[in-house]
Amino acid sequence: MTSFDVIAIGGGHNGLVAAATLAKAGRKVVVLEAASAVGGAARTEEFAPGFRVSAVAHLLNRLHPDVVKTLELEKHGLQFARTDFLPSVALSTGGPALVLYGAYGEVLTGASSAEQSAWKELRAQLLRYAGILKPFLSRRPPDLAGMSFKETAALGQAALSLKKLGKEDMRDFLRVLLMNVADLLDEQLADDRLKGLLAFDATLGSHLGPRSPTSLLGLYYRLAGEAGGAAGAQLLPRGGMGAVVTAIRAAAEKAGVTIRTSISVAKIIVENGRAAGVALDNSEVLRARTIVSAINPATTLLDLVGPREIDTGFLRKVKNIRMKGDAAKLHLALDRPPQFTGADAADHKGRLVIAPSPDHVERAFNPSKYGEFSPEPVMEITLPSLADPSLAPSGACVLSAVVQYAPYQLKDGWNAGKPKLLKAIMAQLESYAPGIGKTVQHSELLTPVDIEARYRIPGGHWHHGELQADQMLISRPVSGWSGYDTPLDGLFLAGAGSHPGGGVSGAPGLNAARRIIAMKG
Ligand SMILES: Cc1cc2nc3c(=O)[nH]c(=O)nc-3n(C[C@H](O)[C@H](O)[C@H](O)COP(=O)(O)OP(=O)(O)OC[C@H]3O[C@@H](n4cnc5c(N)ncnc54)[C@H](O)[C@@H]3O)c2cc1C
Repeated sequence: MTSFDVIAIGGGHNGLVAAATLAKAGRKVVVLEAASAVGGAARTEEFAPGFRVSAVAHLLNRLHPDVVKTLELEKHGLQFARTDFLPSVALSTGGPALVLYGAYGEVLTGASSAEQSAWKELRAQLLRYAGILKPFLSRRPPDLAGMSFKETAALGQAALSLKKLGKEDMRDFLRVLLMNVADLLDEQLADDRLKGLLAFDATLGSHLGPRSPTSLLGLYYRLAGEAGGAAGAQLLPRGGMGAVVTAIRAAAEKAGVTIRTSISVAKIIVENGRAAGVALDNSEVLRARTIVSAINPATTLLDLVGPREIDTGFLRKVKNIRMKGDAAKLHLALDRPPQFTGADAADHKGRLVIAPSPDHVERAFNPSKYGEFSPEPVMEITLPSLADPSLAPSGACVLSAVVQYAPYQLKDGWNAGKPKLLKAIMAQLESYAPGIGKTVQHSELLTPVDIEARYRIPGGHWHHGELQADQMLISRPVSGWSGYDTPLDGLFLAGAGSHPGGGVSGAPGLNAARRIIAMKG
């Protein structure tokens, strides 16, 4: 039987990044994936005959440059040009759309000249402030109790970049850091369409409305990411998100990683307080010195390790991780491309956002607090087959949309609620793209409960755990254990539930692998 140094649980993109990085550092690694294909929520799948789509995540806006470099993803087929950057189109039923072109609105059109100047200033400020948080994405959060020299130096560097902002900016950074996004937008902008778009982006993937305290942090997280070398840029990978995973998989296999699919880990074997191997659902047992779990932290610790092996204080923290998703995914197979009011042909290839004002986003959020959804959901729409005709039959069109807020625990249950949400979404789409309903050949709506079941993501949560102030940085996944280690020697975490969080970034996987390498694991 082949023996391995490292067993990676979960072949999502983070599991593959961790495995590839460890293999490149000389470890013999096996990845165990429960589904029949790797990629997790970053797969491309056929949802109707001849129609393929990015099954959950559809926009690439934070694949970490260190991941691209370390795994030489460009050599493995991942290449993007500046011309691929997508515009963000703030749709409106009553007139032309407002459009942010380039990397997060280098150019703004459809707004007054006063609004354009205000946006230029705000954009620069947001990018400057997000830039302070950026270095934290690619390293372990500082261990405040026992900081190493390297960690102290890194923290010092962050303090230095804060100082470099200048006195006024530094004060303002600290003033706004924990603000709600709606208040900041009201301070600086006037156009509801622009404010609605930014409020949507700040709250996407989280259980927050634009008026919830700290909601601005979501926008910083978004802008600390980059694509194609530009902060805030977004791309639609050709072939869907699965193409990104194909490149990561190729890098992993080139480095010698063994990948096994359709094999689920049922248990992590613990011997003398140390993770020693895994038991699979087919009763097979594999042993290794290091186990890296790139699935949800709570599943790893509560289900695979089990409460008997874990100290009660730690157990309580893990049980308290909030991770009830609010984002649903809609896929439509359309006879022909839809026509959104006020958007030109080029805009249709971009990201079309229905979030007409921060108040509208807030009103869409409010019912989710009580297990209900709004009759007017907010959403981010892409039509990926316009730029990549391989995704749909000739002349037809794929629509992919992320819809909020669809609470995981719907009061009436999702069996009854799903057709009602679909109806509400279609009504909303119809008012922005009249006639779209008549062109639908097939629809697929994935609620957080569907995402949980199909992709094994507890709560169907975007980040495998809320990414809010109390579950970020040194508190992610739980306070005291933010650096990929766990109380069990030999067991590490590497998925979106770890620092810095979710999105197709590969950062948790890379950081975890670096930690294991530093520990000589
Ligand atoms: C509706 C929605 C839309 C999103 N849109 C975007 C977007 O446009 N852009 C973006 O960047 N991000 C987006 N995200 C977030 C992004 O999809 C995730 O944060 C990211 O895919 C997480 O990657 P991961 O590798 O950490 O985990 P996952 O992708 O969840 O992978 C984990 C893998 O582990 C496997 N697994 C689980 N349990 C076991 C087990 N016991 N044994 C073996 N294998 C197991 C699973 O099958 C899965 O393949 C979205 C999320 C949602 C919910």
